Amino acid sequence: MTVICRVDPLEPDRSILRRAAEIVRQGGLVAFPTETVYGLGANALDPAAVKKIFHAKGRPLDNPLIVHVASIDQIYMLAKRIPREAEALIERFFPGPLTIVLEKEPIVPDETTASLPTVAVRMPDHKVASRLIEESGIPIAAPSANKAGRPSPTRAQHVLQDLEGEVDMIIDGGATRLGLESTVVDLTVNPPELLRPGAVTFEMLRKVVRTVQVHPSVLQDVSYGGAVRSPGMKYRHYAPRAELIVVVGDQQNVQMKIEQLIRELSPKKLRIGVARTTGKLYNASHLEELGRSKQEIARDLFDVLRRFDEANVDVIFAEGIDERGLGLAIMNRLKKASGYKIIRA
Ligand code: AMP
Ligand code: MG
Repeated sequence: MTVICRVDPLEPDRSILRRAAEIVRQGGLVAFPTETVYGLGANALDPAAVKKIFHAKGRPLDNPLIVHVASIDQIYMLAKRIPREAEALIERFFPGPLTIVLEKEPIVPDETTASLPTVAVRMPDHKVASRLIEESGIPIAAPSANKAGRPSPTRAQHVLQDLEGEVDMIIDGGATRLGLESTVVDLTVNPPELLRPGAVTFEMLRKVVRTVQVHPSVLQDVSYGGAVRSPGMKYRHYAPRAELIVVVGDQQNVQMKIEQLIRELSPKKLRIGVARTTGKLYNASHLEELGRSKQEIARDLFDVLRRFDEANVDVIFAEGIDERGLGLAIMNRLKKASGYKIIRA
């Protein structure tokens, strides 16, 4: 049974948070909003509770979880050595949409870190999340609250779609503010590496840690060759059910290319969707607006991908954007969602 409780995200009801905290302490699962996406939370220090997360999500056991904390003290409890760069990042960006990877203390079970000697730590900037952690008195392991491979949830309804009956409680705090998962930076390597781009952008990180590098996997498989590539399904993430193709290049060329692709597909009588960042009118079955600013695109991207599923389209063309600032995170998720099917206009 899944209980859903609505709360005011700015002033969440204490009695509901107490109930949720009790579930976490007892080894159960609670989905809760953060400023990035909804998390599927369990006691990070309890191997049996953490195993329930993997089971509910259908998550591969070799994919480690992020541990959410509500205080600096909890970071020192989980991590062994906090390098100077980590201190600087904590000082500048915590609480917020940044996860740092550090050497783990033995208190963190192997189940949580997928047997890695490191632990990923984040302090969410959301009252529901931080008060839930405080109320339970333990760090909470929480990956995105979706089935593995599906778009991350930015609304309680998305969590329910994927995990009804598999999570004890969903705290509904409305739509999340940022919409993309946190930035992940590994500080156990020299130089530090950006493993996943997010709302704390590479440019912002560089102002604090000058040596930080983008890990190749952030951009991997970007072959602007013209033809549609179909790499291994193991890269598929955040994926809608339809085939998604990302078209990149100058805005006008992108629009012309998508129009051409729609024309070429028309004899096949497929239901075609377009995710657009411009007001362009395409001759497609289903048009979705990705928003005008990068902030809007980031916030709405996963919701839009799920809406294409509801509209039962067969093929989605998405207009790509530039990779500066928040654009790097948006394009990273779009490319992964497409299984790296990218066409250069
Ligand atoms: P999710 O919580 O579903 O957004 O996924 C968590 C992300 O953090 C995944 O991309 C993990 O690979 C990454 N992550 C978690 N722990 C570690 C770690 N110890 N080292 C490197 N990456 C990690
Ligand atoms: Mg996830």
